[in-house]
Amino acid sequence: MQDFKMWIGGQWVDAHSGKTFATTNPSTGEEIGLVPWADAADVDKAVKAARAAFPVWSKKTQAERSKILVKIAEAIRANAAELAKMEGLEHGTPYKDAFGVAMGAADKFEYSAGIAPTLMGEHIPVKDGTLSYLQREPAGVIAFIIPWNLPTIMTAVKLAPAIAVGNTCVLKPPSINSMIGLKFAEIFSKVDMPAGVINIITGPGGSVGSAMALHPDVDMIGFTGSSETGKRILADAGKTCKKCVMELGGNNPVIIMDDADLDASLKVLGWRQFNNSGQHCSGPGRYYVHEKVYDAFINKFIAYAKTVVVGNPADEKVTMGPVVSREHQNKVEAYIKKGIEEGARLVFGADKPEALKKGFFVMPAILADVTHNMTVAREEIFGPVAVILKYSDKDDIVALANDSPYGLCAHIWTRNIERGMQLVNDLHVGSVFINCQMLTNEQPWGTSVKESGIGKEGSRHGMAEFTDLKLVCINYNV
Ligand code: NAD
Repeated sequence: MQDFKMWIGGQWVDAHSGKTFATTNPSTGEEIGLVPWADAADVDKAVKAARAAFPVWSKKTQAERSKILVKIAEAIRANAAELAKMEGLEHGTPYKDAFGVAMGAADKFEYSAGIAPTLMGEHIPVKDGTLSYLQREPAGVIAFIIPWNLPTIMTAVKLAPAIAVGNTCVLKPPSINSMIGLKFAEIFSKVDMPAGVINIITGPGGSVGSAMALHPDVDMIGFTGSSETGKRILADAGKTCKKCVMELGGNNPVIIMDDADLDASLKVLGWRQFNNSGQHCSGPGRYYVHEKVYDAFINKFIAYAKTVVVGNPADEKVTMGPVVSREHQNKVEAYIKKGIEEGARLVFGADKPEALKKGFFVMPAILADVTHNMTVAREEIFGPVAVILKYSDKDDIVALANDSPYGLCAHIWTRNIERGMQLVNDLHVGSVFINCQMLTNEQPWGTSVKESGIGKEGSRHGMAEFTDLKLVCINYNV
């Protein structure tokens, strides 16, 4: 078992209490690493380190900061194989996928280095003799709390734009994927960057995360995770009126119209459903399939599911690893059971091989004949389980799709772009994908719709969230 330390103020430290907790390999159920179990005193130490670094870092020129971000990108690329192995070990991601994700994390730093200099203030014309403008400033000390579903990319998505524009940060990785967060700390430690710009602290959300949200010297919270936790953080952060950017849960409708290209749709949706064991916030939550293509869609989905190779991510042939924890495995399997009990038809669901029973594996499953009010159609399953509903021209598909406490994104498959564009206007969600699914560095993600979040992440828009606009007004006619 490997021992890890936290990265605070440019030093490797244990929790002040000396306590640790173990993280687990989800493919085997074995404990693999011991990480510090921080508490509020450690959070305070990390926030103080970030506060001390703030004047140093924020006063660097943009060009100086961007150069350091490029060096971080290079260091991540140089360590991408190790990061990918770590993600396979602690998160269960197949190596090829994990390597791509690690390289994507490097790109986020390089991209942020490139666009930060283009984020500017604004001149406000007022009257002769007066100069008024908006000056863009970093938000300050930002506390980041991230989820386990995409630990590598989330670390980069949060830290890169935030430090690019002069903020200093304390990041808490999800406790079950703490080793991945601390692997990043090791990479950051090798880059010549002022101490305290990035601090990585490990521990349970309920104590460490909450202490971060409550800390009076944290200026802003950047959170990704479930809507339930998001609401708790908002309540904690509200006590000191912190700015919060929240990327929360979803139960994304997928509308397969009667003229959809089913083969093309399954290439994208099948991958999205089973990649990362279905643990994607933007993934398909509930498929509304037009009755004319319903049977054909299901048959093609089954054919796709049969191609998924489930197993230990270290095996090159494997395309889907375990889900992240025993708790999550139980939750996802309980949803499959509940769906069947409520009347859904399990049209695909292989038995679990004996060799996979020790790990936290959930076999790909397809539930058909689901109806709108069944639990599996209402709640976010977050696993390799496709939930398929039939609709006809008599149904109000917009009302069905919008009837959810979430509004993260929607997917539409149709050859009739005019109908698709009408849906774009009518769906109350933050992002709509028609006949595709992609998210590049230039495209902002996130939404302020319903319980799916507050604010944007990624692109110039997400970076701007990490800044404040100060109004300056000067009477020079004196
Ligand atoms: P979670 O809410 O359980 O945990 C997220 C983080 O919050 C973890 O680091 C956890 O330790 C911490 N935490 C837990 N309780 C806390 C508290 N009281 N105070 C402060 N921090 C606390 O989420 P999860 O299970 O790790 O991730 C899955 C969820 O994340 C899903 O709902 C998914 O939709 C959502 N998600 C959303 C997006 C998005 O972009 N909208 C992206 C990825 C995941």
